[in-house]
Amino acid sequence: MKTFQVGSYHVTRIEEMLTPGFKPAFLFPDYTPDIFEEHKLLSGPRFWDEPTQKVMSSMHSWMIRDDRHTILIDTGCGNDKTRALPLFERFHQLHLPYLERLAEAGVRPEDVTLVICTHLHIDHVGWNTKLVDGRWVPTFPNAKYIFSRREFAHWQSPTGGHLTLPENIAVIEDSVLPVIEAGQVEFIDDGSKIIEGLFFQDAFGHTAGHGMLKLESGNDAAIFPGDSLHQPMQVFRPDWNSRFCEQAAQARTTRRSILDYCSDRHALLLPAHFGAPHGGYVTRHAGGYDFAPADDLVVAG
Ligand SMILES: [Zn+2]
Repeated sequence: MKTFQVGSYHVTRIEEMLTPGFKPAFLFPDYTPDIFEEHKLLSGPRFWDEPTQKVMSSMHSWMIRDDRHTILIDTGCGNDKTRALPLFERFHQLHLPYLERLAEAGVRPEDVTLVICTHLHIDHVGWNTKLVDGRWVPTFPNAKYIFSRREFAHWQSPTGGHLTLPENIAVIEDSVLPVIEAGQVEFIDDGSKIIEGLFFQDAFGHTAGHGMLKLESGNDAAIFPGDSLHQPMQVFRPDWNSRFCEQAAQARTTRRSILDYCSDRHALLLPAHFGAPHGGYVTRHAGGYDFAPADDLVVAG
């Protein structure tokens, strides 16, 4: 289990699954294979699965903890959920020990104080709910769930996210609406301070209401960019959008601003799907950006 220290906070990855994901040419329409020649890091087993020729893809929550708060950022795919095939076969009818891994980190579902979703796609909201007696109920009974007001409106609008990803309609129904109906959701806007040092900011592009979290404590900083970046190769090719990015030009602008922030602030980049060690540091140079996995920063916990 990976735990990073960010000022007075501990940030731990709670794994749902770590498997080969998509073939890069499928995930990134602009993909060209020369990137593997230029950046040997990408063809190592942490980021690349040679037998399937697919990029390694992690599904996890980032858990931020101090004495008073236990916060989950994004909640993976969830168990028992029926997902549209074949595109989302990897997420269909899962039975994974996510809550057991949370318990290994010393956390029971009732201990979680806040759940924050960067956006409302299939692989970011799944553990918001669990199946009990045929009904979807909040997995974290004492948590406040925080969604972007704009992102939720985007999925309620007849001209919103459903047009580009109709497969996500079922996701809103089983993993978002039940927590709203339970009265556990607070909608927030750009610039909201969530707790001391943790801020929500708009990061449109991947979806039209996508957000990110910045954590600043003492001299340390971390950024949780959600799906503004899916893979380390996008640090080297910041103009490569995933096929799931809704707003192409905005997604590129957002990605570059995140990479600039990481470089300027020496902030730890903690995306939603990078292979091990699941985060790292970015430095900007004249020709673009470099990426260094955060191998040295893991602390006990
Ligand atoms: Zn995702």
